[in-house]
Amino acid sequence: MQEERIHLMGMDPVGLSEFVIDQGEPEFRARQLFKGIHQRRLESFEDFTDISKSFRERLSVIACLRTLNLVQRFVSNDGTRRYLFSTANGNPVETVFIPTRKRDTICFSSQSGCALNCDFCLTAKLGFLQNLSPGEIVEQIIYVLNDVYGIAKEMPHGTNLVAMGAGEPFNNFENLLKAVSIMKREDGLFIVPGRITVSTVGIVPKIYEFAKLNGRPHLAISLSAPNDELRNRLMPINKRWNIDDLMNAAAAFQNSLKQGERLTFEYVLLAGINDMDRHAAELASLLKRYGLDRVKINLIPHNSAEPLEYSPPSAERVAAFKQTLETSGVSAYVRKARGHDIFAACGQLAAFDPGEALAEVV
Ligand code: SF4
Repeated sequence: MQEERIHLMGMDPVGLSEFVIDQGEPEFRARQLFKGIHQRRLESFEDFTDISKSFRERLSVIACLRTLNLVQRFVSNDGTRRYLFSTANGNPVETVFIPTRKRDTICFSSQSGCALNCDFCLTAKLGFLQNLSPGEIVEQIIYVLNDVYGIAKEMPHGTNLVAMGAGEPFNNFENLLKAVSIMKREDGLFIVPGRITVSTVGIVPKIYEFAKLNGRPHLAISLSAPNDELRNRLMPINKRWNIDDLMNAAAAFQNSLKQGERLTFEYVLLAGINDMDRHAAELASLLKRYGLDRVKINLIPHNSAEPLEYSPPSAERVAAFKQTLETSGVSAYVRKARGHDIFAACGQLAAFDPGEALAEVV
C-alpha cells in the first residue's frame, strides 16, 4: 500500500544515503536519487535511467515519490490555479499558483485545516486535521512546477514561495524548516530562503527562534487589528500572545533583518470593522511605539465567501487607509485578489468546489 512505502521526497541527502545503504546499494545512489527527485523533478522510478533496472523495480515496491493525490485542479480566469490534493489518510491539502508579469508565486500549505480559528478565514472552518510532513510540503511545490512548466523543465528565475496556504506554519515548525532545507539545495530545486516567505499569525516563541536561524526565509506577520480588543475578536491567538508580546517579538525579529530586507505585516481589511482611518493611524503609532521602521504593510481587502459574514471595504476606503499609513511614514501596498472565482484567494482555502462552470476540473 502506498502509505506504507517510504516517501523519498521528504528525505535530505543524509536520509537518502542511509536508505540506499540499508538497501545494499552504493552511497552515490543517494545523490542520483536526490537529483532525479528534486532537480529533474522526475515523477516515476522508471525515468531514473541512471539507476539500475533491478533497483528501480525494487524502489517502486518499497518507496514512493508521491503521497498526495490530486483531487481537483481549478483554473481561474486570471490564470491562477488552485490544486486540491488529498493526503494518504484523506485530508485536504491546497496549493495555489499565482502568475504575474514579473514573477510566479506558489502559495503552499503547511497543515491540513487549521486550529487557530481566525474569524475571517474559511480554512478555520475545517478545524485542524494534520501537520504536513516535509515530503508533503515539498511535493506540493514539485507538483505545481511540473504542471505549470513541465517535468524536468527549468522554472523561470525568481519563482517565489509563500507559506500562506492552509495552516499556521510555526505550528509545524520542524517539518517546515526541513522542507526549506531540502528545497534550497543547489543540487535540487535551488529555491533559496530569500525567495521564500513564511507567514505567521503570531506564535511568539517561534518568531524569536526563527530570527536566530542562519539563512532563514522572510517573515510576514498577520496582524489585522491595531489593538487587543479588536484582535481578540478577530484572531483568538491574540488571547495567548497579545499585541505587546507580538510587537516585542517583531522588534527582535527586525534586529535580524539583512540589508534591504523588511518585515511584512499583513492586514486583512474588513468593511466597517478594522478599516477606518483611525485604525490606520493607530496601526502607524503602534509600529512607531515599538521602533518598527523596517516594515511594510500588505493590505488585503477581505475575500468574502459564505458562510463568513465579512465583506471587503470599497476601493476608496482601501485607498484612504493606505494614504493614512503613508502619511504617517509607513509603506503600504494593496494586495490584489487573485483566483477569487475558484476560491484560491487569501483566506478562502477550504477545499471548496466552485463548480465546473467556473473551473477546469481534472
Ligand atoms: S488565517 Fe491562517 S492561522 Fe488563521 S485560521 Fe486561517 S489558516 Fe489558520
